[in-house]
Amino acid sequence: MNCSLCNRISATKTQDYAYLIHEYPNSYLYLGEHQFYHGYCVLVTKGHYAEMTDLSETDQVALFREMMHAHALIESVFAPKKMNLCSIGNVVPHVHWHFFPRYADDPHFTNPPWLQMHLFDTARVSPQVRDALIEKLRAAVTPL
Ligand SMILES: [Zn+2]
Repeated sequence: MNCSLCNRISATKTQDYAYLIHEYPNSYLYLGEHQFYHGYCVLVTKGHYAEMTDLSETDQVALFREMMHAHALIESVFAPKKMNLCSIGNVVPHVHWHFFPRYADDPHFTNPPWLQMHLFDTARVSPQVRDALIEKLRAAVTPL
């Protein structure tokens, strides 16, 4: 199986992927590789599941708790006007949730974040910015 998120998890374990913010029992929270939306993060399940319904009910509940914890963490650090959470997975069918903080000064505030996706690569972060954002988020992590 060649899944880019399973590969990311493997690279996280060997410390070859430097975007990890926090490891939960069932998922990893990563800083997004772009920051077109300041504070953009991605939560990835540890196991390879195509759909949320492929998880046991117990794991669904546990994952939802981790999602809400990540949501609150991102909100506490970046204070957006609104959070957009999306799980799609048509390109990478491994359950992951995008967390897009949205801000009042966004001229496209009422649009879904994906309408700007052609610009995401223009906001890739340098290792210095990445590390500073991760440090800021890690410092704010509270017990689950
Ligand atoms: Zn996978």
